Amino acid sequence: MVHVISYAVHCGQPVSGLVVAHLCHNPACCNPVHLQLMTQKENVAQQLARGTFCFSPRKRKLSRDAYPLIRMSHAYRNVNALSLAEQYGVSKSLIEKILYSNY
Ligand SMILES: [Zn+2]
Repeated sequence: MVHVISYAVHCGQPVSGLVVAHLCHNPACCNPVHLQLMTQKENVAQQLARGTFCFSPRKRKLSRDAYPLIRMSHAYRNVNALSLAEQYGVSKSLIEKILYSNY
């Protein structure tokens, strides 16, 4: 975020809705000559084109500790996948993966 401060000091407050992007592709750089305003969409497109886009890791929505309970509810209480999905707040397809594969 130092680059945003550098941009604000040297170039003025960034325009709302735009991000301060690095033209030099060095995230640590704060040289104002290397910084440019663009939309987040443009910034991500450039990062994807360069192969430097970093997908943030997705958080697991359901703890693996719940898997045996889900399998037992299905096997012994005959609770179907849709009901389990609603109960645990996850998709039916995730419940089916837990029930029918080694997920
Ligand atoms: Zn730079």
